[in-house]
Amino acid sequence: MRKKINRQLITIAILAIMITMALITVVFGRLLQQQIIEDLKAYAGLLKKADLYQNTEIYVTDFKAENVRITWIDGTGHVLGDTDANQNHMENHAERPEFERALSVGEGYDIRMSETLDENTYYYAMRMEDGTVLRVSKAAQSSWKIMFSAMPGLLLSLAVMIGICVLLARMFARSIIRPLKTLAANLDRPEVKVAPEYKELEPFVQTIRTQHENILRAAKMRQDFTANVSHELKTPLTAISGYSELMEAGMVQGEEVKHYAKEIRHNSNRLLSLINDIIHLSEMDRTEYEVPMQQVNLSELVRNTVESLKVSAENRNVSLRYVGEPACVYGNTGLLEELLWNLCDNAIRYNVENGMVKVQVEKAKDRVNLMVSDTGIGISPEHQSRIFERFYRVDKSRSKETGGTGLGLAIVKHIVAQHDAELLLESTPGEGTKITVSFPVHPV
Ligand code: ADP
Repeated sequence: MRKKINRQLITIAILAIMITMALITVVFGRLLQQQIIEDLKAYAGLLKKADLYQNTEIYVTDFKAENVRITWIDGTGHVLGDTDANQNHMENHAERPEFERALSVGEGYDIRMSETLDENTYYYAMRMEDGTVLRVSKAAQSSWKIMFSAMPGLLLSLAVMIGICVLLARMFARSIIRPLKTLAANLDRPEVKVAPEYKELEPFVQTIRTQHENILRAAKMRQDFTANVSHELKTPLTAISGYSELMEAGMVQGEEVKHYAKEIRHNSNRLLSLINDIIHLSEMDRTEYEVPMQQVNLSELVRNTVESLKVSAENRNVSLRYVGEPACVYGNTGLLEELLWNLCDNAIRYNVENGMVKVQVEKAKDRVNLMVSDTGIGISPEHQSRIFERFYRVDKSRSKETGGTGLGLAIVKHIVAQHDAELLLESTPGEGTKITVSFPVHPV
């Protein structure tokens, strides 16, 4: 990155210097031309005032100065006198642009390039009162030539400038990269200010840090989950292994066999539910896992689930009923069924003798609310925020006794998120619990 910044800055610097030099040459050339023409004009003016130009004899001796050539031409273009050449051998000047212009408007000039391009000849012509034309001319180096002769100096200064640019680019690149290096070295130390001199980098630094924290947190959660899963699987397996060992050794006789077999079945069922829940959760954790969604008749789904849970409720002396109006939500039938099943199952399992469970479906303005309320044991405030965590249980033994895995509400939370729904928990210990899932109404 530093190399790239360096290269770019140096390229910009070289380009800037080249463009500046070219511009200076053009502007300087223009000014030079203007200046020379002005000089020639002043010279011609002086000659005219002094009225000396007609005396061609003194051209060669007295007029030759400052490299200026003077030519006196009559109205037809015939040269009457010239400081440089013998006028008798000179061709007719009628077609020279400066002459033509001077004849028609009083004055004219022209600049002609020499064949080698390194010299320009400047001509200025002025019409005299007697109808003749006085022309003064001067050869001068072209501005390119001047620039060219100054080339060694220019190249040297270019080299110096590039040197300075390289140094500056290096300093600049280093100062840009410094905060990034500091950030990389101090990702998990938010107290280290990374780029106080570059305010624009602050959001970037913030995002990187937040992402880093999230990655760490997710890794920690995965670790905890794996440890929990292993622990949870180990308990029923140890029990099964212990019971079967006793039976194998012939230490269980008569009626006891039934009891041990029941324990083994109970623990195997526990294992099965655990494995089912774990598989389910890890499927939902896969981000690429997209569930097919459609309009689902929620009231019908609730009625059916309530119906199939009636026996389990009766076994625990809990009454279960459904009250509600017809409503549809946009969702996945299987997942919604599972959500409902988990909520109702909890409401029955954490209930009291002769308790009640009520499931409601209610249409609000732009939402459909599903409410499961019970008259059960309730959840004290300190546990309320945590019961949706994986394997979090208020009363571990009650959960296990009733066939809980500690994952039911974690699955509920996941399904709620997948449906863009909201989850609300209201609970008073000793009075009961009400869980509301509020679904948005999607346009069909
Ligand atoms: P579990 O399989 O243990 O029931 P859940 O994830 O379904 O696991 O619930 C987590 C914990 O939340 C339960 O162990 C229980 O302590 C508490 N809980 C859940 N639902 C209720 C409820 N309706 N009434 C009282 N406590 C509840």
